[in-house]
Amino acid sequence: MKKIVQTDIAILGGGIAGLWLLNRLKKSGFSTILLESSQLGGEQTHKAQGIIHGGMKYALQGQPTSAAHAIANMPALWKACLEGQGEIDLSNVSILSNQQYLWSTGSLTSKLAGLFAGLTLKSNLHTLNKKNFPTVFQHPQFHGQVYSLDETVIDVHALLHELAIPHKEAIFKIDPMEEDQLKLDDKDRLTSLTIHTTSREERHIRAQKYIFTAGKGNELLLKKLKHHKITTQRRPLHMIVVKHHFDFPLYAHCLGLDTVPRLTITTHQAHDGKFIWYLGGKIAEEGTRLSPEKQIQAAKKELKELFPWLDFSHAAFASFYVDRAEPSQPNGHRPDSCYFQEIENIIFAWPTKLAFAPLLADQIMQCLSPLAPCIADMKALDAWPTPSLAKPIWDQLLP
Ligand SMILES: Cc1cc2nc3c(=O)[nH]c(=O)nc-3n(C[C@H](O)[C@H](O)[C@H](O)COP(=O)(O)OP(=O)(O)OC[C@H]3O[C@@H](n4cnc5c(N)ncnc54)[C@H](O)[C@@H]3O)c2cc1C
Repeated sequence: MKKIVQTDIAILGGGIAGLWLLNRLKKSGFSTILLESSQLGGEQTHKAQGIIHGGMKYALQGQPTSAAHAIANMPALWKACLEGQGEIDLSNVSILSNQQYLWSTGSLTSKLAGLFAGLTLKSNLHTLNKKNFPTVFQHPQFHGQVYSLDETVIDVHALLHELAIPHKEAIFKIDPMEEDQLKLDDKDRLTSLTIHTTSREERHIRAQKYIFTAGKGNELLLKKLKHHKITTQRRPLHMIVVKHHFDFPLYAHCLGLDTVPRLTITTHQAHDGKFIWYLGGKIAEEGTRLSPEKQIQAAKKELKELFPWLDFSHAAFASFYVDRAEPSQPNGHRPDSCYFQEIENIIFAWPTKLAFAPLLADQIMQCLSPLAPCIADMKALDAWPTPSLAKPIWDQLLP
């Protein structure tokens, strides 16, 4: 006999988009299940630097762009959640830093002075006196200027934990989807979703709405469903992880003459208590064609140039490739905001930034507002396996 699960909403994909939405839907009384084919946070989210951008990064040309406008409200929304006053209680998520720094190197400081003057007038950017510089820039060999920016950096692993644990009874591990697992009627409505575990157990999921927040996995699902109305793009990165013994936590963007920061550094703690500098920015965007060896060489050169007073010869380096998965944009540019589209009873969604997850969930909740919670029969999922939480990437690469 077929084992059938009835639910209002079935979410596919347990990154930030799926998990945030799961929390919102459960709070609104919808019976909801989340299906994950790998680990929670398994693709992009657990590799995020955790910066809750407020748009400054996007306003670097001096003129706020539409991307800067879209993201400007996100920090307040997150702040409320982090203080336990928002739509989801994230008061147990550690804040790694309440501010980000922007710094310019000595040679560029005068060239960038005009830009900074404009930005400080328009935003929450503050010029710092040397005595207030982060410790690493207190060194006499540092000749640049440092600004502080009220942007929070959060512990992404704690975030995933806080979003998943309260709803673990609604989260299930599945095998990757094959085409015949998605059953469509002649109007392109998804009538059921068949899921498997590695032991070939099978269940049939019937939902009022299916929400696909599978990141890169959405591409495959779109292809399988032969939906050509939504096209996707990937923007690759080649990130670097540096494990060292310096006690210099740093959350900062190094500004060059480009609109993308030359280097973005966030600091994390490895499982053995050592510090990790996690490097993104232009170096990660431009290094996607480099081998890991060449990318690590480039990172060492960059660190030597920017921090000549620090000795990284005992540090351990690793790098990895990762794609940012999004809906297509003209010229492959970064999307300005989050995105979702509904096709019949399926919603395809991408936050495009961790920071946009609450906005994406809001927009989807509005789209679902005509729906009334009505069905729930989850018995067939009793004892179904749950996915684990992805380990921090630095602990995977430099155990
Ligand atoms: C290196 C890096 C750093 C970043 N830093 C920041 C930052 O500091 N601040 C910021 O705002 N944004 C940042 N971002 C962007 C942000 O991380 C992403 O926009 C966001 O995490 C995407 O979330 P998601 O839920 O759409 O996708 P993902 O996190 O990719 O999650 C998708 C999930 O779906 C699962 N899945 C795939 N296929 C299927 C299927 N068929 N069935 C079930 N499950 C499936 C995957 O296993 C995965 O767990 C960063 C991105 C990267 C790559």
